[in-house]
Order: sequence, then C-alpha cells, then structure tokens
Amino acid sequence: MNKGLPIVISAPSGCGKDTILEQLYKKNQNLVQSVSATTRAIREGETDGVSYHFTTVEAFEKMIENGDVLEYTSYCGNYYGTPKKAVTDLLAQGKDVILKIEVEGAMNIKKIFPECVLIFILPPSISELERRLRKRGTETEETIAARTAQARNELEFADKFDYLVVNGDLDKAVDDVNAVILAEKMKAERNAALLEEIKRS
Ligand code: 5GP
Repeated sequence: MNKGLPIVISAPSGCGKDTILEQLYKKNQNLVQSVSATTRAIREGETDGVSYHFTTVEAFEKMIENGDVLEYTSYCGNYYGTPKKAVTDLLAQGKDVILKIEVEGAMNIKKIFPECVLIFILPPSISELERRLRKRGTETEETIAARTAQARNELEFADKFDYLVVNGDLDKAVDDVNAVILAEKMKAERNAALLEEIKRS
C-alpha cells in the first residue's frame, strides 16, 4: 500500500479554513485530520479529543521531553503541537493526513516530511478579511486590529508554500484544495509501485 500524504493547511484567522475543511472531508474520504495537542482553554462548541487534545503545560512539556510531538509552537501564549505517533500511524495506514497548523509549524513539517504538500489559504484582500472578522460580532476593535496585523505577518510566509488558494467563493476554494490534493496524489514519483504493477499485469 502507498504511504499516505501529509498535507499542511495554513491560513490567517478569518480566512474560512475550518469551513473549507468541513466541506473537503465530505468530498474526499481518504482525508483524516490530525488532532493537535494544546494548552489553550477549550472554547464553546469544541470537544476534547476531536477539536484538540486539551492538556496542561506540565503534560505538554513532558510530551516535548519524551519526543512525542513532531513539531510544536507557542502561539498567543499557548502551546500547540502535532502528536507524532497518531500522524505516523495514519500515514502508514495509507491515509492522507491534514495538519491544520500555523506557518512556522508548516515550515518544520516540510523538513520532517519533504514529500508533504503545503497549502496556504488566502483572503481575497486584507480589507475583506477585516470585514469578515468584524461580521463575526464576537471580536473587539482591538482584537480585529491584532488579528489583521497577525494575518499580514503570516502572509509573509505564503510564498514558501507549494499552493495558494484564495477563499473568495467557498465552493470554488473547496474544489481548488481538493484539485491540488488529487493532482499531488497522481504524481508519477508517488506511483512507482502502481506503474510496476500495471507493467506486470
Ligand atoms: P486556535 O487557537 O485558533 O485553534 O489555533 C491557533 C493557531 O494554532 C492556528 O493557526 C492553528 O492552525 C495553529 N495550530 C493548531 N494546532 C497546531 C499544531 O499542532 N502545531 C502548530 N504549529 N500550530 C497549530
């Protein structure tokens, strides 16, 4: 069996990454999302073990010490990390694993899995991103300004990614991400065994 493909999806907050992924999982049954560990507080609507593995700083630092995380970062004062065993097991089972992580984590994953695919989701414009953040109605002007500044920062890394997908129209963005994944899966270099099998048939 072919090993699964690690796929990193990064996006500034407010770009609609979660909504894109929700739709994508309905279209592509071979995708599984990696569940990260974090020390941030659980939010309303989140489930432990599904959204994240919510944990304490002590337990997280123990994971780092034991080499149980593939990569980790400190973001807005909280730890976030990708559990090593869960991801390597899924890849070994042939699953394509989505890592929904921030830009520095993405760069680290590329070093660990050079064959991975890095996809960056862009807003149509910074002003549209600001408008979407404001529309949520949950953010103060201060948070909107901080998140917009953070988005500008993250955009500086976008050219290090393999693919840029603009989320202007949701359905199109979902189709674009899926098209990237399907094309990547068909690359000749990933299908040497299949080719040999067909030659022998
Ligand atoms: P949030 O607190 O909004 O769920 O996530 C904050 C940021 O941390 C997001 O950009 C998210 O993609 C990123 N993130 C979540 N899990 C991980 C992880 O395991 N590693 C890294 N490097 N970033 C993560």
